[in-house]
Amino acid sequence: MKIFSDGSLDGRRAVVVGGGAAGLAAAIVLRARGARVRVLEQGPVVGGRLTPMVLGPFAFGSGEESFAGPQILGRLFARAGHRLSDFVEFAPLDPAASLVFPDGERLAVHRSPDRLAEEIARFSKADAHRLETLWRKWESRARAVDERFTTQPGRGWRGLAECAASPRAWPFAASAASPRTLDGWVRRRFAGDRGMRQVFAWLASRHGVSPHRAPAGLAYPLIMDAMRGAWMAQGGVGAVREALLRLASLMDVRMTRDACVERIETENGAVHTVSGRGFKPLRADVVVAAMNPAKAAAMLSPTEPIVAAAKRLERRRTGRSAFAISLILRESARIRSDARETMLLGPGPREAARQIDGWLVPAASPDIHLYDYGESDGLHGLRIVVQQPPQTARWRWSAATIAQERERVLKRLSKAGVDVRESNILEEVVLSPAEFAKAHGLAGGSLYGLWGGSWRAAFLRPPQSSPLAKGLYHAGSFAHPGAALHLALQSGILAAESAL
Ligand SMILES: Cc1cc2nc3c(=O)[nH]c(=O)nc-3n(C[C@H](O)[C@H](O)[C@H](O)COP(=O)(O)OP(=O)(O)OC[C@H]3O[C@@H](n4cnc5c(N)ncnc54)[C@H](O)[C@@H]3O)c2cc1C
Repeated sequence: MKIFSDGSLDGRRAVVVGGGAAGLAAAIVLRARGARVRVLEQGPVVGGRLTPMVLGPFAFGSGEESFAGPQILGRLFARAGHRLSDFVEFAPLDPAASLVFPDGERLAVHRSPDRLAEEIARFSKADAHRLETLWRKWESRARAVDERFTTQPGRGWRGLAECAASPRAWPFAASAASPRTLDGWVRRRFAGDRGMRQVFAWLASRHGVSPHRAPAGLAYPLIMDAMRGAWMAQGGVGAVREALLRLASLMDVRMTRDACVERIETENGAVHTVSGRGFKPLRADVVVAAMNPAKAAAMLSPTEPIVAAAKRLERRRTGRSAFAISLILRESARIRSDARETMLLGPGPREAARQIDGWLVPAASPDIHLYDYGESDGLHGLRIVVQQPPQTARWRWSAATIAQERERVLKRLSKAGVDVRESNILEEVVLSPAEFAKAHGLAGGSLYGLWGGSWRAAFLRPPQSSPLAKGLYHAGSFAHPGAALHLALQSGILAAESAL
């Protein structure tokens, strides 16, 4: 089979460290540019956080199954000369989620602004009207941010200056540089206490941040996500992984599992050799580190500036983690919802944000995300995710605190009418931030990369081209443009397009 290649990296040797979504996207683009590519994955399977967990008849996705980026994936496949639909099909999710208030009232997050406005009108007619008039204005601003920021390689502070130079992106530059929070931004525009604030809270949660702490500047990327809509791959997130693996192997990308990279040697300031456990040292002209950038920097030949830079990266605060429970139930849990994702809103969102992001202790009543996997073989699959702080010196998960947290979450679900009585649970897997740290090699178990709750966050993420060594590039949820699956894919594409 003829492999599509534009030849711009012909004869170059590229090594991708980490076989998650970002690493696979980078490998495919590097190959499409003609490089010889080797992916090294420390784990026993390639796929990183995309790898589903199989429990009985269910393949539980790592996080949510909905995805804001089939378009990004479509562009990646087209870049490699293929059609995404030949590998995996996506269906729109409508409603994308059902939000349940503590008193049981519900709000369906619809894809179309008209239908969403109808929902909001149940809480506030004025807000519904406002949503309709603001949408068009937001749409062009969100597109400007996307063109200037998310789809461009990271530029750190220069990115903010460049946004400021484009009148269409001024609202983003202004809100990115403002200390106002996302929730403050929404409250200024909408009068109602219910409705849009909860919709934005749900959108923000997909990026692992709290609207009460995250900057207003995040609003436009979230609006872009809302415009892209929520999609689900036929076969779940595991099918996205399969599609990426199939394309990578069609393109002759070599993948090695159980290969842990420990050193990236440089010569005259450029990457030269990659070495570690489980593989023979490899010569490389390009290295894409699709993993924690602080760890990648620490792998470089340790000169004084490199050690200092690695320490600076290490000190950057990591973002939220999660506490997840996957359940197989004997009988249907009878979740009253027409959406695959149901979010049970906690009674005190501000307090929960303060506990998770400020005190770095588990929140007593966080929002609970429920993913309904439906019925199979007479059994019911349910995945429960609550966002919690990453593991720090302040809070360590132990068998006792894990058991307490599990009980607290299940009690709230029972109160909300979901049948998770012990006698209805056939099998379960509980994962705390400590397990996420171990399973994915993530600092503190941070599932959403770096902390996104300060206005500077977007500009502090490591850019694609590392200033530390020529030929070293960063990708993944810790790098620009940030966490969430579609952004991790985008970061891999940007890293590979930036190469040399
Ligand atoms: C519980 C949970 C909830 C989530 N919720 C959402 C959500 O709501 N919305 C959303 O969009 N996304 C969500 N995600 C995140 C999404 O899955 C990630 O953003 C995306 O998969 C990250 O891809 P990545 O390639 O950056 O990282 P990873 O998938 O973690 O890949 C990095 C890979 O690098 C490997 N590696 C690390 N160090 C080395 C080394 N030294 N040598 C070799 N290999 C190495 C690791 O083993 C890993 O396989 C969630 C994830 C989880 C687990």
